[in-house]
Amino acid sequence: MRFELASRPHHDHLIDVETDEIREFVSAEIERLQRRIAKDHGYEIVTHRLELYCRKVT
Ligand SMILES: [Zn+2]
Repeated sequence: MRFELASRPHHDHLIDVETDEIREFVSAEIERLQRRIAKDHGYEIVTHRLELYCRKVT
């Protein structure tokens, strides 16, 4: 199942609010959960973006 229309494989983002560094990640668990939530509401996901705004734990 593809979420993005772009040619790159799907990924989501961690964004460091202090440095603006962006890290890409893929979580099968999160992808499954999102599909289930949409389904529970009577939808199927066409596309999505997930951005987690984070700061480093020291
Ligand atoms: Zn995703």
